[in-house]
Amino acid sequence: MPLIIVTGLPTSGKTTRAKQLHNYLSERIADSSSPAAAKYRLHLISDQTLSISRSVYDLSATPAHTRSANASEKDARAAIYGATKRVLSDRDIVILDGLNYIKGWRYQLFCEAKAVRTPSCVLQIGCTKEKAKEVNEERLRRRQDAVDAVKDKEEKNGEEREEEEEDPYEPENWENLVFRYEEPNPMTRWDSPLFTLIWEDDEEQTKQVFDSLWDAIAGEARKLVRPNQ
Ligand code: ADP
Ligand code: MG
Repeated sequence: MPLIIVTGLPTSGKTTRAKQLHNYLSERIADSSSPAAAKYRLHLISDQTLSISRSVYDLSATPAHTRSANASEKDARAAIYGATKRVLSDRDIVILDGLNYIKGWRYQLFCEAKAVRTPSCVLQIGCTKEKAKEVNEERLRRRQDAVDAVKDKEEKNGEEREEEEEDPYEPENWENLVFRYEEPNPMTRWDSPLFTLIWEDDEEQTKQVFDSLWDAIAGEARKLVRPNQ
């Protein structure tokens, strides 16, 4: 399984990019002019696909000295790990869309990929803290609007939240996750190769990044960069 670990601040655009990457990879795999690509199956794993709530990352209810025992986040991580491991194979490309903010966690995933002799890489979603915060605040507002609408018992069928809409993080949870975020470091084996997309990157730039990512995990570069891994 070539493993693609998506990482970035909360509400920085990870899911948006993961979906774009999913579309891009689907096309590459379906491309009849490169039969070698046809061997791959594609998987997208995220908190949403596993029904993991934002609240599992919330430490605010936990006293400081018991933080390491934050069981719900541990359970969530075990679920993600299990789902990833289940599809581990050299024929399966897994896009792991999530915060993936702990370097030890990324290291573990890297080892898992290495154990089945398949490459892994990290796709970092770069976004300013201010922009990401704006996105979360907008989501909080929309959620509040939805709650108010129900309270008012108004018939707001036309204004229901879109199904695609994701839950916001509670403000304190959001701040905490930003504080705890461990930036990927391309000098380490487990965070490399490291690809980066920023909020402003347009379609052309995005395609370029996806092209080099494909080369690293499935193309010729794969053989050159990682001969024995
Ligand atoms: P995350 O998965 O990190 O929480 P999302 O991908 O859900 O973030 O994005 C949050 C919001 O920001 C969405 O409404 C999305 O449409 C918007 N968004 C994300 N990335 C971009 C971008 N590069 N340019 C413009 N809007 C974006
Ligand atoms: Mg997301």
